[in-house]
Amino acid sequence: MARRKKIYEGKAKTLYEGPEPGTIVQYFKDDATAFNAEKKDVIEGKGVLNNLLSEYFMVGLGQVGVPTHFLKRLNMREQLVRSCEIVPLEVIVRNYAAGTMSKRLGIAEGTQLPRPIVEYCYKDDSLGDPLVTEEHIAAFGWASQQDMDDILSLALRVNDFLSGIMYGVGIKLIDFKIEIGRIYDGDFQRLVVADEISPDSCRLWDIKTEQKLDKDVFRRDLGSLTDAYSEVARRLGLMPNNPASITKPTLIN
Ligand code: 5GP
Repeated sequence: MARRKKIYEGKAKTLYEGPEPGTIVQYFKDDATAFNAEKKDVIEGKGVLNNLLSEYFMVGLGQVGVPTHFLKRLNMREQLVRSCEIVPLEVIVRNYAAGTMSKRLGIAEGTQLPRPIVEYCYKDDSLGDPLVTEEHIAAFGWASQQDMDDILSLALRVNDFLSGIMYGVGIKLIDFKIEIGRIYDGDFQRLVVADEISPDSCRLWDIKTEQKLDKDVFRRDLGSLTDAYSEVARRLGLMPNNPASITKPTLIN
């Protein structure tokens, strides 16, 4: 069997050359990292859950007209995506204060923000993905003004979509991070939502109990990460409610 070409290995995913030109296979690993990889572990099943959840969100976004890089899920751990050039920014949308915003501005976690706030971080692990302004982005040529208008619009559309989906299953979307890819169609460039959307890159709290159902469970040692991610998948209808009932063989007469 021919060995496929590895293009990139990140903290949570490995990218391989896809079967057609312009495609990539995105493999979801079980590795979990936090605090710029200072904390590391292998969480069995995380990759499978993120693959399923990211597929669900990307397909849904496509259905409401938000372009993404997603083509199809290939198996439990892999999905086929369109190859794109990643804009070197992490685009963060916040509905409630948490994480670095709470630390930076001294706002209690869980405080509802007056409106969604979009932040940009420069994607560079060696610098710890620093927060940057649109001035930095323009001055250093990371994205044009037109790109920034499109990125803001994409980020807010993703926020509306994800907030609605989550609210429907009793979960508050506190914040999330997306990455944006450029796809070239002849002379034209399109911006699409790329990378993944999963509990690794969102903060998700149960509406009633405020129980955390995202990567903060790992970052802050709050219990089982797979239980938290499975709960999100279960509420979205991506997992059977009672796995035992379908794993049991049934005698057919
Ligand atoms: P914070 O800036 O509060 O650490 O993160 C804000 C949101 O963006 C959180 O939902 C967090 O999970 C996500 N986020 C920020 N940086 C990263 C990153 O490097 N990787 C991933 N997967 N998510 C991130």
